Amino acid sequence: RFITLEGGEGAGKSTQIRLLADALAGCGKEVVVTREPGGSKGAEEIRALLVSGETGRWGPVTEALLHTAARRDHLERTVWPALDAGRWVICDRFFDSTMAYQGYGLGLGRELIGVLQATALGDFRPDLTLILDIPVESGLARANARRGGEDRYERMDLDFHRRLRDGFLDIAAREPGRCAVIDASHPVEAVQASVLDAVTRRLGV
Ligand code: C5P
Repeated sequence: RFITLEGGEGAGKSTQIRLLADALAGCGKEVVVTREPGGSKGAEEIRALLVSGETGRWGPVTEALLHTAARRDHLERTVWPALDAGRWVICDRFFDSTMAYQGYGLGLGRELIGVLQATALGDFRPDLTLILDIPVESGLARANARRGGEDRYERMDLDFHRRLRDGFLDIAAREPGRCAVIDASHPVEAVQASVLDAVTRRLGV
């Protein structure tokens, strides 16, 4: 099974991924936790190019292509082999992030990103995508407290983050069978309960 977690800055993905991985391991599943951009040797090298700190180093299309190239390598080297071996794979960000950040946030649009996704993924899709949703201001406040505002995306304007949040919600509305929106503004334990509830209901564990 392949589960992806998505959301804007400060939504609490990493904490929830850790808790979900522990819960699934407690049910006897073999769990692999991975992330994008990254998750394989080549994809981590591409990640370093993307997050090296220079705002605007890449044009939006180039940035989307780099994310897509990293994704393909990650799928071939990490995700597909693990799924073939019967493991559960939990991924911190996946193709919905490219749609939300580059498609909606940077304005490349659904069509262009859709072509890139089709090229990298074919018909492959996550079994379940959890979209951790939090109001833009509280998410950014959390992320800034954690990282001291060093991250390049945290310097982007509020409107960018609003487009991002609306983008994730639009993605969820278009694919309700795959996506579950989780209210991530609650305390960690409450968010964890919603995550486990969605996984149990949708995937029957
Ligand atoms: O998941 P995490 O927040 O660590 O993501 C790393 C950085 O890459 C973040 O600043 C995120 O906003 C950014 N990102 C992006 N476009 C993507 C995926 C991630 O700008 N498609």
